[in-house]
Amino acid sequence: MNEEGQGEERRGRGGRGGGGFRRPRGCEFCRAKTDIVDYKDTSLLRRYITERGKMEPRRKASTCARHQRAVAQAVKRARHLALLPYTAEHVRVSGIHLGRR
Ligand SMILES: [Zn+2]
Repeated sequence: MNEEGQGEERRGRGGRGGGGFRRPRGCEFCRAKTDIVDYKDTSLLRRYITERGKMEPRRKASTCARHQRAVAQAVKRARHLALLPYTAEHVRVSGIHLGRR
């Protein structure tokens, strides 16, 4: 009997479980092979900002640095044209302490 531990081969790297949904790595603009982020495409831009209107962190948006800048630029432009909010108008975080009396 030769049981030298075959089947133990696929250990090593890549053994990180968890996370659930496996999102494609790399930014979609690179995959689309475009350098232009359309600032008028708010439905697109909204995916790169939080619901409070801030830029989504890059690791979450999985955009490369280059296109992240392009997106940021587009977001700014869109904000300027009032296509996107600077901040979410209903979420005004000033000094609201819930349950504090
Ligand atoms: Zn890119």
